[in-house]
Amino acid sequence: MKFLDLSSQYQSIKKEIDKAIKRVLEGNQFIGGDEVKEFEKEIAKFCGVKYALSMNSGTDALFLSLKALGIGFGDEVLTTPFTFISTAEVIANCNAKPVFVDIDPKTFNINPSKIEEYLKAKSYKLKAKAIIPVHLFGQMADMDKIIIIAKKYKLYIVEDAAQAIGATQKFKIQNSKFKIRSAGTVGDLGCFSFFPSKNLGAYGDGGMVVTNNEKLAEKIRLLKNHGSSPKEKYLNLILGANSRLDTIQAAILLVKLKYLEKWSKVRAKKAALYTYQLSKFKELITPSIASGHTHIFHQYTIRVKKNLRDKLSKYLLSQGIPTMIYYPIPLHLQPAFKYLGYKKGDFPEAEKASEEVISLPIYPELSKKDQDYIIQKLKEFSL
Ligand SMILES: *Cc1c(COP(=O)(O)O)cnc(C)c1O
Repeated sequence: MKFLDLSSQYQSIKKEIDKAIKRVLEGNQFIGGDEVKEFEKEIAKFCGVKYALSMNSGTDALFLSLKALGIGFGDEVLTTPFTFISTAEVIANCNAKPVFVDIDPKTFNINPSKIEEYLKAKSYKLKAKAIIPVHLFGQMADMDKIIIIAKKYKLYIVEDAAQAIGATQKFKIQNSKFKIRSAGTVGDLGCFSFFPSKNLGAYGDGGMVVTNNEKLAEKIRLLKNHGSSPKEKYLNLILGANSRLDTIQAAILLVKLKYLEKWSKVRAKKAALYTYQLSKFKELITPSIASGHTHIFHQYTIRVKKNLRDKLSKYLLSQGIPTMIYYPIPLHLQPAFKYLGYKKGDFPEAEKASEEVISLPIYPELSKKDQDYIIQKLKEFSL
C-alpha cells in the first residue's frame, strides 16, 4: 500500500491526459499557449472570481501576491506556525518579518482571537500589513472572523489555499442570510498549488493566484513575467520574476479539473468512513469539521497522545501501512527561523499538534479493501 498512489489516478484518465500532452507537443507553444489561458478561465469559473493568474508554483503564487501588495522591509505579516515552510518563507523573502500566531487545536488553523490579541497589544505602533491564513489539510480557516479583524486593523489577506481548492465556508450576511464562499476567494488574493500530491496536482510544479481586484491582477500578471509590457516586446515596466505555468501542465490540469469535484466527494466519503469507525476510540481524535464548513480532506489527520504517536506510526508501517507527519516541527522552531527569536513554549497548541498528528492514506483511488484494512489495524492498536 502507498501513502498516495498517483499512478492509479493516471491510469483512470490516461487516454485524455496522453491526448492533451500530445496536442501540446505537436502545437509547439510550450510557454503561454492556449491551454494556459483556458485553464485560467476555468479556475476563475470554478472559484467564482474575476481573475486567475497561473504561476509556476504555489510558493511563487504566495511570494508574488505579497510583492503585488507592496509588502517589504519593516512590514510584519501574521501567519500560523503550523504549516508548510513556504507560507512563512515567502514573507522573509520579501524582506518582511513573519509573525506567528497560535492555532485552534480543533481545526489546526490559525486562531482568530490570537490574531486580535497580538494586534491589540501592538496597536500603538502597528507594523502588521497582512495576514496569511492557511486552509490546512483541506478546511478553510475561520475567515468569517478573520475578515472582520483584517478590516478593523486595515490588513490585507492573502489566503494560502494550497491544500484547499474547492473547500467552502458559509458567511453570515444581512438579515440572518448566508453566503457560501470558497477557499481563495475571501481575501484580497488567494493562492493555490498544483504540486503533484495536491488534490488538483500537475505532473510537475504549478500554482495560481485568484482575485477580484483588477489592479492586483494586473500587477501580478506583470510580476510573473519579468514586468514585461503586454503591449511592447522587451519593454520592462517593473522588476518581476519568471513564474509562468508551462503549457503542458495547464493541459494536464484542464483534464484533471473536470474530475476535481468528484474526487473531493470521494475523499469526503472516505473521511466519513474513517471518522465513523475510529471516533469511538478515545486514544484517537478524529478531525473536526467546523460548523458551516466543507472539508476536502487533502489530508486525513488524526491526533494521538504524544508518546503513542510514534509507536502507532511504527506499528502501522510494520503492517504495511505508510503514514505521514504533517508537520513534525512548527515553523517558529525551525533552524531557518532561529533569527526571529522564538522559543519552545511560545505556541503551545502548534507544538502539541506537531507531536500528536498523524495523517492516514486518503485519496480517491484508495480501495475499500485497503481502507478497511487500515481501520482494522488502527482498532487492533487501540484495543
Ligand atoms: C504545497 C503548499 C505550498 C507550496 O506550494 P508549491 O506549489 O509546492 O510551491 C504552500 N503552502 C502550503 C500550505 C502547501 O501545502
